[in-house]
Amino acid sequence: MKAAVLRELKQELSIEEVTIAKPKGREVLVRTMASGVCHSDLHIIDGLLPSPIPTVLGHESAGIVEQVGEDVTEFSPGDHVIGCPSAFCGKCNYCLVGQSFLCAGQGSLNRVRGDQPRLAGADGKSIRQFGNISSFAEQMLVHANGLVKIRDDMPLDRAALIGCGVTTGLGAAINTAKVAPGETVVVLGCGGVGLSIIQGCRIAGANRIIAVDTMPWKLELARKVGATDTINGAEVNALEAVKELTSGGVDYAFEAIGLKQTVEQAYAMVKPAGALVMVGALPAGVNVEFHALDLVISQKRILGSMMGSNRFRIDMPRYVEFYMSGRLKLDEMISERFSIDEINIAIEKLRGGKLARGVIDFSIG
Ligand code: ZN
Ligand code: ZN
Repeated sequence: MKAAVLRELKQELSIEEVTIAKPKGREVLVRTMASGVCHSDLHIIDGLLPSPIPTVLGHESAGIVEQVGEDVTEFSPGDHVIGCPSAFCGKCNYCLVGQSFLCAGQGSLNRVRGDQPRLAGADGKSIRQFGNISSFAEQMLVHANGLVKIRDDMPLDRAALIGCGVTTGLGAAINTAKVAPGETVVVLGCGGVGLSIIQGCRIAGANRIIAVDTMPWKLELARKVGATDTINGAEVNALEAVKELTSGGVDYAFEAIGLKQTVEQAYAMVKPAGALVMVGALPAGVNVEFHALDLVISQKRILGSMMGSNRFRIDMPRYVEFYMSGRLKLDEMISERFSIDEINIAIEKLRGGKLARGVIDFSIG
């Protein structure tokens, strides 16, 4: 099968013939129909998030089951599925208390050393699978605990977005922050994740949703998906503008960029007893600073949010229903579709901030 392999950091992905093993045990072989290109993929290519290479990236995907291992009972060939990087072991303490997004047993979902690797290059050498998924490829061989079945009439290119960005954003609002009806929020960064946070806040019933970005087209998109106010951070001081709009601060400030400066700015936008929700992935090794006494006196809270604190087998079918009933807007979020052969163009456009979401559509060429 054809796959895009990361062989060297900061270089283009190489389109190659890759061998994929047959499913056994709890494994499922999935025909990839669509894969979003996420900032985490870009961060790994650029060396900002450490990950072993060679690898096939891509972790925001949807497809159709082709074949299942002998111990798989919950999927059959023909099922439509979304892949999620938050695969759960179902046995560790985090899984048992319902925090499977923190699963400590993900290692047990891989093949053991000495087994035929799931992915191998033309030279027969093993290629590392990324996030139990590797969706920049025509097929995926994944553990069943990293998949969820969805209804057949959900378009798969839009379903793919739910695999990472949409779940990260909706979950940050609904699961991590638990935004309540009537509350006021600000979202810094209006890419795929930021737009999903805005939608999560709207669905949760927030009254005022302020979007901050430096690109006018992203702010326009933010309004389309539910922002009530927009601030162009390149034109005005975003902190002052938010304080003015809210007479003193917001209940929740979501940071979806991953920069020290905007994390600290978001913290300053929060009113006493409110919370900063950190969603953007900062490069490894970066520290952020807060005024410690202010934190104590104001009782502000700082929440990390990973993959939308998801329990994806429950959350993702709900998000699909949000889309089918018109509450979750996904069509608007797809800026452009690419074939797998055009993946380096998609990555370059993402790097240049030109896409809300780019999708690799395997039905193209
Ligand atoms: Zn992602
Ligand atoms: Zn677990």
